[in-house]
Amino acid sequence: YLTVNGLTKSFGELEVLKDINLTIEKGKVLSIIGPSGSGKTTLLRCLNALEQPNEGTFSFHDSFNLDFSNKIHKRDVLKLRRKSGMVFQSYNLFPHKTALENVTEGPIIVQRGKKEEEQNRAIELLTKVGLKDKANLYPNQLSGGQQQRVGIARALAIKPELMLFDEPTSALDPELIGEVLSVIKDLVKENWTMVVVTHELQFAEQVSDEVLFMDEGYIVEQGPPSQVLKEPKEERTKQFLKRIL
Ligand code: ATP
Repeated sequence: YLTVNGLTKSFGELEVLKDINLTIEKGKVLSIIGPSGSGKTTLLRCLNALEQPNEGTFSFHDSFNLDFSNKIHKRDVLKLRRKSGMVFQSYNLFPHKTALENVTEGPIIVQRGKKEEEQNRAIELLTKVGLKDKANLYPNQLSGGQQQRVGIARALAIKPELMLFDEPTSALDPELIGEVLSVIKDLVKENWTMVVVTHELQFAEQVSDEVLFMDEGYIVEQGPPSQVLKEPKEERTKQFLKRIL
């Protein structure tokens, strides 16, 4: 479904991603774990062309192929963004737009959807994330957990084929984490294809088909959660899990 081969990314002298290879099957959930600074966020941003990788190839659905050695064409960047819905660590909502307007922004402006249809759909999506009654409130009138749920509804609004979550709960107070994870779990039940960068290991264990452990820009180990999280083969994975648990 989605295949990345030989992806590398540097910021100046700093090599942040080194020879990344991964495959995600349709309807599966891949979680990415690893220490701070290991390159998890950068990898996710490369999948969405928010960063331009230095090298590597990307293939989506066999119908959309990119060679990152060449500069990604603006047309391809837009195509890629339409296929993937990104949920950010810090929500990134428009502060001067209501929850509803945040959700309709992408479909109406970017995809030229019809306003009324998109508003109805946005209400449906806000209902899905439990926020129907907050549709007309602004981000600063919402809790962090509610803002992030709007962020999820907004990502879903473009009807993506792939959902990307960048540490969706790491900016939240502990008591608000559960409500956001529960919305993500609902999406898992609906068989969305998802890549989730997370520090929530228990959550990763519950929802993932595959877990990928990164350190210093490398994929150290990947496999089913029962293996990577419970019986890791690599010493670096063991050390990481020992520190975090
Ligand atoms: P965390 O769990 O703390 O979010 P991470 O694994 O997601 O960490 P990244 O955010 O991908 O790590 O960062 C990997 C490395 O790349 C870090 O050393 C970071 O300082 C560096 N980096 C990330 N973005 C940039 C940038 N735009 N310019 C320069 N260096 C960057």
